[in-house]
Amino acid sequence: MKTIKELISEGLTEVAASREILREENVRRVYKQFPELKDIDDQIIGIRGNRLIAVIDKDEKLIRRYDIAEEELQTKRDRIIARNGIDPDFDVVKSICDKCDDTGFTKGSDGTLKVCSCRKRELEQCYELSGMSDYSSYRMKNFRDDYLGNAGSRKKIRNELLKAMLGISDGDEKSSLWIYSAPPQSGKTFLSVCVCKTAINLGKSAFYVKCEELAGLGSDTLESLKRIDFLLVDDFADSVTLYNNVGSILNSILEVRAAANLPTVLVTPFPKSELVGKCDMRISGKLSSARLISPEGR
Ligand SMILES: [Zn+2]
Repeated sequence: MKTIKELISEGLTEVAASREILREENVRRVYKQFPELKDIDDQIIGIRGNRLIAVIDKDEKLIRRYDIAEEELQTKRDRIIARNGIDPDFDVVKSICDKCDDTGFTKGSDGTLKVCSCRKRELEQCYELSGMSDYSSYRMKNFRDDYLGNAGSRKKIRNELLKAMLGISDGDEKSSLWIYSAPPQSGKTFLSVCVCKTAINLGKSAFYVKCEELAGLGSDTLESLKRIDFLLVDDFADSVTLYNNVGSILNSILEVRAAANLPTVLVTPFPKSELVGKCDMRISGKLSSARLISPEGR
């Protein structure tokens, strides 16, 4: 499983090549329009070559002569540039993206890093690699407080999920495991996917997976789920853990993540007490100390 940071750094060579191409293109355009400038630049390059030889020969007099010659050419050059309104940095390598200087990340006013908008393609790719290829239209910006009514509660749940993802805790509770329990058809998957995408937008590694699909993941992916910054397991139910070894797979993931204090959210339509009572012993123990996110009155 590749993270957004890996995807961005893989793209850096490509970006550097594009920068160089843009620079060459810019220089070519300016030289074509102002051949006298190219002529001076060629002369400067020639003088620098000769000066280097003079330096090797330790010929101080000659070095001085070349320095004066270059100075004169530079003055001429500056004049041509100023007279014609040419960008003085036309031959300098420039960032393609002004917002992030091609690093792929921008810093918000509060100091948090965010993937720059110029890396949309990498973000989409990362969402897909992080279990969310079926949810391309799920975006936090489409989040509505009043979905199915109960605006206050829904917003509160969203904020609690975001806090869980960021590892922020209000009280003294130490558990890094959360249960997000809400009735069926209450928009749980939408919120879950959006929170995972937000994690990725903030440069974190995250994964969205439906509980029953854990059994179908490759061993490399399962290993990486133990170490990523944020994991969300949707459609969690005691019955699911009984089939295809899902219980044992999930248990070993939860164990490693708990030891490293990495936030994990189990999303379920069932009340916490019911899950604690019915689940596989090992998982049940972890659930009982888990923190709960749920709508009021549940
Ligand atoms: Zn950018």
